[in-house]
Amino acid sequence: MEQLLKAGPEVVRDYFRLFVNRRAFTIQSKKPHAESGRHYYFRPKERGTENPVSLTLDTLKQHLEGAITVALYALNPSTQRCKWVAIDADYKDSMEDLLKLQYYLSADHVEAALEMSKRGGHLWIFFERPLLARECRIYIYDLALRLKVPVKGAGLAEGIEVFPKHDELKTGEFGNAIRGPLGIHRGAKRRFWFYGADYTLEQQMAFLKRLRQMTEDELRRFTAGKSIPDELMGRRQNGDRVRVFSRSNGRDFHILDHISTPLRKVGRNYVTRCPACAGEGHDRGGDNLAVRIEDPRFYKCWAGCTKEMIREALGCPIRFRASA
Ligand SMILES: [Zn+2]
Repeated sequence: MEQLLKAGPEVVRDYFRLFVNRRAFTIQSKKPHAESGRHYYFRPKERGTENPVSLTLDTLKQHLEGAITVALYALNPSTQRCKWVAIDADYKDSMEDLLKLQYYLSADHVEAALEMSKRGGHLWIFFERPLLARECRIYIYDLALRLKVPVKGAGLAEGIEVFPKHDELKTGEFGNAIRGPLGIHRGAKRRFWFYGADYTLEQQMAFLKRLRQMTEDELRRFTAGKSIPDELMGRRQNGDRVRVFSRSNGRDFHILDHISTPLRKVGRNYVTRCPACAGEGHDRGGDNLAVRIEDPRFYKCWAGCTKEMIREALGCPIRFRASA
């Protein structure tokens, strides 16, 4: 098991300033799931209540020291802005694509930090102050398209994933969280570091702080007149996104509205990739999730993901509480 480290107050404060854009967060379970063997993320609640726990400096200290592992949300719905963009890539040859992106970002004078991961890596870009998620996403998608770097979803089973995964969120929505860097990955039982600095918390944070941070002016310039191409938005070209079950009162959850992977009809079900499995790099066959065609309120992952895990992975957790 990975050793525990000491995280001093300065490292913790710097980490907070760099990575935390809202107080909502999730924790990676220490025990693997009984059936799937995987370590899922859950949103901690105050003892005996449904109130979510807010992230504090102490939470981050525990994360950096290795006692717990947290995942952070990019997008704050009160501003629709984020402090960073993270590009996650874990397919075969994904490191090549991340290095390509990093190289072409540097041509725009954007310094991106490459974090190792279990397979592939994460590329992080930091901003001088929080920038609009929509513009961040346009910038990265446009670059990926120009470099022919594959984007996951959009009919592609493998490709980069961009955090934030949404342009905007409604109050009470969370979007998708990504494992906070420098903590211990419970599944891999180890820490993953950034390339470019010694493997200590102090050196790593000093390296991240030294990176040039993108400004709003730059981002506006890079994205002027551009939008996210339809084919990368998970919209179906053939328009078969029509809702089968349409008794919506605006509050019902319709899973088919949130799934962008290809659906196949198998008997009475649609079969597609389970988002919770996919978040862990599993279900590469894309057939773990079954959704009943007649009534898509009924869906099931054959690998054992619970409804909570699936909803969390889709960025629509089951119990909402406003906590920006
Ligand atoms: Zn699953």
